[in-house]
Amino acid sequence: MRIDELTGPKFEELGPRLAFLPVGSVERHGDHLPLGTDTIIAEHLARELASRTNGILLPTIPYGPCIALRDYPGTFDVDWEALYRYVLSVLREAARNGLKKVVIVNGHGGNTNVLKFAARRASIEHDMQIVVFDWWRDVAQDVRKELFPHPGHAGEDETSVLLAIRPDLADMDRADANEAPHPTLSLYSPSTYREVFVKPLIGDARKADPERGRKLLDAVIEEVLDFLREWKMI
Ligand SMILES: [Zn+2]
Repeated sequence: MRIDELTGPKFEELGPRLAFLPVGSVERHGDHLPLGTDTIIAEHLARELASRTNGILLPTIPYGPCIALRDYPGTFDVDWEALYRYVLSVLREAARNGLKKVVIVNGHGGNTNVLKFAARRASIEHDMQIVVFDWWRDVAQDVRKELFPHPGHAGEDETSVLLAIRPDLADMDRADANEAPHPTLSLYSPSTYREVFVKPLIGDARKADPERGRKLLDAVIEEVLDFLREWKMI
């Protein structure tokens, strides 16, 4: 159920239940994937999870901080402070409307820390139970390592998943590869961003395969459902 498609009385009848909030980005993903790839994947997972748990799907937040790829046309690098305040407000309003259990499905690395800070604060201030997860690294790790030993950005793994959801939006004739250096600690500098992103992707998108993408999506959904059962959120 999408909250934005419910009438007021229907929403009132539903009562408290688990809510899912997808958060994505508008960011360059190689030359072959749509700019909203992170949004599309997060929204897909949140929709599937909501339907499997009889939960409520909240409207997606489609922008996030994208510093590393801001020089590539199509990237909207939104201030993290703005995202923090916005997510905190949405969580507060969810709680005020009786939705005190929220799962934030994150599709974009630049959002991760911001979402975790907002979730921590909202949980204390509004007595909420909030889960935050990055679909590509927090869950189904064994399956992912087996299917995609070389994770990237718009590379083999993310391209496979996008192809499993919206193949019509990909332009695989333009799929490319970039074996970028990988700093082992957090290293922030404009020259490093340029060195890593000599092209707007990491990994080898040419090896993408929608069947493996589908398997990873299924594993992510199953593991999140297991987690929600384990912590008695469903
Ligand atoms: Zn992405």
